[in-house]
Amino acid sequence: MSGVKKLDSCRVLIVGLGLIGGSLAAALKARNGCREVLAWDRDPQSLILARERDVIDRAACSLEDGVADADIVVLAVPVLAMSAMVRDVARLDLAGKVVTDVGSCKSDVVEVARECLGDSLSGFVPGHPIAGSEKSGITAAKADLYEAHKVIVTPLPENTLAASQLVRSLWEGVGALVLEMDVEHHDQVLARTSHLPHLLAFSLVDTLAGDRDSQDIFRYAAGGFRDFTRIAASDPTMWHDVFVANRNALLEALDEFSEGLQQMYAAVEQGDSRAMTGIITRAKSAREHFTRMLESQSYLKAMSHQSSHTFLARSGGTATGTLRVPGDKSISHRSIMLGALADGVTEVTGFLEGEDALATLQAFRDMGVVIEGPHDGRVTIYGVGLNGLQQPPGPLYLGNAGTAMRLMAGLMAAQKFDVTLTGDESLSNRPMNRVVKPLLDMGADIETSEGGKPPLVIRGGRSLSGVDYNMPMASAQVKSCLLLAGLYAEGETAVVEPGVTRDHTERMLTGLGYPVKTDGNRVSVQGGGTLTSASLIEVPADISSAAFFLVAASIAKDAELLLTHVGINPTRTGVLDILRLMGANITLENEREVGGEPVADIRVKSAQLKGIEIPEDLVPLAIDEFPVLFVAASCAEGETVLKGAEELRVKESDRIQSMADGLNALGVDAVALPDGMKIPGCAAGAQDVFAGGVVHSHGDHRIAMAFAVASLRARDEIRILDCANVATSFPNFIDLAHSVGLNLSETES
Ligand code: NAP
Repeated sequence: MSGVKKLDSCRVLIVGLGLIGGSLAAALKARNGCREVLAWDRDPQSLILARERDVIDRAACSLEDGVADADIVVLAVPVLAMSAMVRDVARLDLAGKVVTDVGSCKSDVVEVARECLGDSLSGFVPGHPIAGSEKSGITAAKADLYEAHKVIVTPLPENTLAASQLVRSLWEGVGALVLEMDVEHHDQVLARTSHLPHLLAFSLVDTLAGDRDSQDIFRYAAGGFRDFTRIAASDPTMWHDVFVANRNALLEALDEFSEGLQQMYAAVEQGDSRAMTGIITRAKSAREHFTRMLESQSYLKAMSHQSSHTFLARSGGTATGTLRVPGDKSISHRSIMLGALADGVTEVTGFLEGEDALATLQAFRDMGVVIEGPHDGRVTIYGVGLNGLQQPPGPLYLGNAGTAMRLMAGLMAAQKFDVTLTGDESLSNRPMNRVVKPLLDMGADIETSEGGKPPLVIRGGRSLSGVDYNMPMASAQVKSCLLLAGLYAEGETAVVEPGVTRDHTERMLTGLGYPVKTDGNRVSVQGGGTLTSASLIEVPADISSAAFFLVAASIAKDAELLLTHVGINPTRTGVLDILRLMGANITLENEREVGGEPVADIRVKSAQLKGIEIPEDLVPLAIDEFPVLFVAASCAEGETVLKGAEELRVKESDRIQSMADGLNALGVDAVALPDGMKIPGCAAGAQDVFAGGVVHSHGDHRIAMAFAVASLRARDEIRILDCANVATSFPNFIDLAHSVGLNLSETES
C-alpha cells in the first residue's frame, strides 16, 4: 500500500458478523466513520439481520467480491478459523489493501500470514480489541462496544507505516484507545491477564459443580463467588479455541500460578500467618498499585477527587483542643526503607499516606518484604535484614517520588540482584547523575537513559568501596543515597556537605543502632554493620502542617491548642522562631527524641501578635510556612516585612502574588514585593481583620489552608476556590480543623 489513506475515504469489509465484527460494523455505521461498511459472513442469515438492523451498508455476495471492493479487510472469525481465513484471503488480490484481524491470540495467525501473504504482509496489521461480553453473534453486537476500551495493535516489522496508521485510525474512529505491542509480548500478557483467569473460572465452577454439596454451594453463593466466576459464563467455543491457540504462553502462566498456589497451600497448611499475610497484603496493594500505574493515576487522585473544590470558612470559629497533624513525608519514606532493612518487626505510626511514601512502600513489597497497612498511619514492617531483599518480579515503579529513586539508587547498587527503577513522566525527566556519578565511583554498575535520566538499570553483585565525597550541591537526597550505599561498602563512606541539609537519614540510622559519625559538615558510616529494629518508629507530625494550627490558636480569641508529637528538627523550626518573635505564646512540652528525631508537644495560646521585620536567616528554615505567617502578620499590631524570599514565587503557585491577591480581596492592604511582602497589620484586639469574600488558592494547598485559618478573624464567610490539592499534603485537614472548632466545610461547587 502506498500513500496514507484516510478512513473516511475507505470501504471496510467485515468478515464474520459476530459480536466483535458486528459491533465494529455498527460502530462505523453509527459514527459515519468510513465510506461504506461491507460484510461477508458464512451464514446468510447474519447478513440479512445486519441489513435489517442497519448495522452494515451492504452485504457482499462472496468473500472474493467483498475483498475486491474493500480498502480495509477486518477478519473477525473465531481464533481457530482465523488461519484458514488468512489463507483464503491470501489467494485474492490484496494489492493496495490493508488487512487486519481481531483474534485474541496473535502468534499463530502471524505465523500463517508470514507463510502465505508474500508481499501483502506489508499490509497485514494484526489487532485485538480488549472489549467483549459473554454473548456472541450479530444479535449481541453493540455500536458502543469499543468506546473508551483498549485495542492492542501488534504491527509487524514488515508493515508499512501507512498500513499500521490506517488500522490505528480504524479503531480510534470507533472511540477506542489504541496501544501497540509486539506479537509475542501480546500473547504472554493476554495469557496472564485474560486467558488464565478464564481458565481458572471455568475450572473452579466445574470443580464445585461436581461437588456433592453443589446445590448448597450455588444456592448460598455470595457476591465474591459471583464476581470471581462471572466469566465462566463466556462462550465455550471461543475459549476452547483461545486455550488451544495460545497453548504455550498459557501453560507458562499456569506453571507460575501453580507455584504461587503451592505457596499459599503450604502457608495455610502450616498455619503460617506471616506468609499468608504477606501474600494477601502484597496482592491487595499490587492490585491497587498496578491499576494506578496503568492509568497513570496518582495515589491521591481518588482522595483529592472526593475532596471538593471549594472550602467554606465561616467566621465565629475557635481553635481549642488537642490534635495530631499528619506525619512527616521525608521520615515516612525512610521509615519504610530502614524498617525493611532492620532485623525484626518495626511498627510505624504517624505514617503519611501520601503518594510518594506509598510508592516506596510498594517497592519494598515487590522486593519480598511483608508490610501490613497503612491503616490510619499505622504500618507494620517485617524486616528482612540488610541482605534479605529479593529480586523484584519487574521494574520498581516509584511514581513521582524523587526521594525514593535517589535513596533507593544507593541501596539497590549494593544488592546481589539486578533491578530497574522507573517512575512517572515527571520523575523520568529528573536528573539522576548527581547520585549515579558518585555511586559509579564506589564501584556500582548503573545505566541511565540519555542525560542521566530514569529509568535506572542497576546491576547487582558488585562490591562497593567507600568514598570520601565532596558534594557539589547541598542535597539531603544525595547524602542519604551515599550513606545507604555505604552500609554495604568496604571501609568508610563519607560525605562532606557544602550547606546544612535535612539529617533525617542519619538520625534514623542512629536510632536503629547503626553508628553514624558526624564531624562538622562531614558525615560518615562504616560498611558491614547491622540495623536492629526500633520496634516502633513514631513518625513525627509534620511541622509544616502544624504551622496552620500554630497560627490558628495564636490569632483566635481565647484559644488553646496542644499539637502533639510534632517534629522539631532544627532544620525545620523557623516558623516557631518567627511566631515567637511576633509575640506568640508557644511552649514546647514533653521534648524527647524518638528514633533519633527531636519531637515535642507544642502548646499554643491566643496572643496579641506584633509586626516584625522577619530576619532573613530564618527564611530558608520556614520557607513553606509563609502563606499562613502572612495571615498571622495581618492580625498583628504594626507592620510586618518579609524580604529575601524570592523562592516563594516558584512554589506550587507564586505564593507572594497569590497571598497578596487573596489578602487584598479580604480587605488587607498587603503589598507584594519582588522577594517578599509588606503587611500593614491591624489595631490591637481588632476582631474583623478580614472582611470575608472569595479568594483563589490557585490549586496551592498551603494557600487554601492559610485562608481557612484567616476565617477565625473574619467578619463574613471566606470562600476559598480550587482546594482539591489540600489532599496531597494534608488529607484530613477539614476534619481536624473542624474537630478543634474552625467553622470549615467543603462544597462541590
Ligand atoms: P462470534 O460472536 O461467535 O462471531 C464469530 C463469527 O465468525 C460468526 O459470524 C461466525 O459465524 C463466524 N464463523 C465462525 N466459524 C467460522 C468459520 N470457520 N469460517 C468463517 N466464519 C466463521 O465470536 P466473536 O466473539 O465475535 O469473536 C470473533 C473473534 O474476536 C475471535 O477471534 C475472538 O478471539 C475475538 N475476540 C472476541 C472477544 C469476545 O469477548 N467475544 C473479545 C476480543 C476478541 P456463525 O454464526 O455461522 O458461526
